[in-house]
Amino acid sequence: MRRQIAIIGAGPAGMFLAHLLHAEGIEATVIERRDRPYVEGRVRAGVLEQGTVGLLRRLGLAGRLEREGLVHGGTNVSIDGRVFRIDMAALTGGATVTVYGQQEVMRDLFDAAELRGLDIRWNASDVALTGLDGDRPVVTWREGDAARRLTCDFVVGCDGYHGVSRAAIPASVLRTFERVYPFGWLGVLADVPPADHELVYANHERGFALASMRSPTRSRYYIQCGLNEDIGDWSDDRFWDELCLRLGSETAAKVTRGKSFEKSIAPLRSFVVEPMRWGRLFLAGDAAHIVPPTGAKGMNLAVSDVTMLGEALSEHYREGSDAGIDGYSARALARVWKAERFSWWFTSVTHRFPTMDGFDRRIQIAELDYLRGSPAAQRSLAENYVGLPLEAA
Ligand SMILES: Cc1cc2nc3c(=O)[nH]c(=O)nc-3n(C[C@H](O)[C@H](O)[C@H](O)COP(=O)(O)OP(=O)(O)OC[C@H]3O[C@@H](n4cnc5c(N)ncnc54)[C@H](O)[C@@H]3O)c2cc1C
Repeated sequence: MRRQIAIIGAGPAGMFLAHLLHAEGIEATVIERRDRPYVEGRVRAGVLEQGTVGLLRRLGLAGRLEREGLVHGGTNVSIDGRVFRIDMAALTGGATVTVYGQQEVMRDLFDAAELRGLDIRWNASDVALTGLDGDRPVVTWREGDAARRLTCDFVVGCDGYHGVSRAAIPASVLRTFERVYPFGWLGVLADVPPADHELVYANHERGFALASMRSPTRSRYYIQCGLNEDIGDWSDDRFWDELCLRLGSETAAKVTRGKSFEKSIAPLRSFVVEPMRWGRLFLAGDAAHIVPPTGAKGMNLAVSDVTMLGEALSEHYREGSDAGIDGYSARALARVWKAERFSWWFTSVTHRFPTMDGFDRRIQIAELDYLRGSPAAQRSLAENYVGLPLEAA
C-alpha cells in the first residue's frame, strides 16, 4: 500500500487528524490496535474547549453536539464547602466550554468516517515503524493472519502514552519531563441528575472532589484517592458519603445518589517529551504528553496538536512549503507547556498532598481565597480553562 500519511491510533488525535486530512484531499490510513467498540467505549474526557467545538463544526461533525452538548459559561470552586462561581464567559468576552463525553465525540468521528470512506484498519497487531529518518517510511502490521505493509511520506504517532511511535525515536534524541502525583482519582458514573448545572471543583481537608456530568441525567463524580486503594473497598455508599463530605453541605444537598455503572481509579501524571518530531515521524496527543485531568485538557490538547499538524501538512502538499512541518514541534510544545502549567497548578491548589503541613494547607486556602476575590485571578483561570488560542508558528 502507498499513502501520503500513515496515522497510528484511532483515538481523538488520530481521528480528528484523519478528518482534517480528508477535508484537504490528503490520503491517509489510520492503523488501530483495537476494534471500534473498544475505542468508542472508553470512559475518559468530557469537557470540550471552544476550539475543539469549533473544529467539530468546521469538519461538519457537530450536529449531535449542538443538540446534546451542555454549554457551560462558568465553573464553581468550593473551599471546605464554601462555593463560589467563576463566570468564565463574562471574563473572556463570551468564551464557553461544552460538556460532551469523549465517547460521544468518538462515535461522531467514527460514524462520519464510515460515511466519508476514511480508511481505518482495526485490530492491527505488531505495528512497527521503519525508515523514519529516510525519505520513505514504512509501517508494517498484522490483520489476523495477513501481513500488511504501507509506504508513506509521513507517519503520525497518535497512539497514546503506551503506543509504539514514541518508542521508535532514539532515546538519545528524546527529552522526557515528568511529575507523578502521589494520588489518583476514583471516578464514578451514575444515571442520576447532576448536583449542579456546572462543574464544582472542591478542595477539602480530606482531599479533592469534583462534581461533573455527561448529560442532564448522567453524573460523573470523582474523589482523590490513594494510588494503592482497592476499588473493591469502595462500595457505592462509601463513595457517596465521602463525595458529599468533601463537596460540603451546600452542594451535597443537591447530590442525587444512585447505583454506579462505572467505577475506576486513574493515576495522575504530568509528562512531556521533546521534540514532537523526528525525521518523518510526528507525535500528537497522549503519545507526546499527559496532563492530570484537573484542567480537562487531555483530549483538547490532542485536538490542538493535530489542528496545527493538519495545517502544516496542508501547507506541505498544497504550497510545497515545509515551514509548517519544520515548526510543528516548537509550536505545539509552546501550547502544550501552557496547558501542562495550568493542569499542574489547578491540581496543586485543589488536592491534598501527603507531605502537606499546616503552612502548605494555609497557602492553598489563601490561593483559592484570592481566586474567589480577584477578577484578575479568575480571568487567568477562565482563559486557560476555555482554552488558549492556537498561536502562529
Ligand atoms: C482513564 C483515563 C481517564 C481520562 N479522563 C480524562 C478526563 O476526565 N478529562 C480529560 O481531559 N482527559 C482525560 N483523559 C485523557 C484523554 O482521554 C486523552 O488525553 C485523550 O484520549 C488523548 O487522545 P489520543 O488520541 O492522543 O490518545 P488515546 O485516546 O490514548 O488514543 C490512542 C489510540 O492508539 C491506539 N494504539 C495504542 N497503541 C497502538 C499501537 N501499537 N498500534 C496501533 N494503535 C495503537 C489505542 O488503542 C488508542 O485507540 C483520560 C485518560 C485516561 C486514560
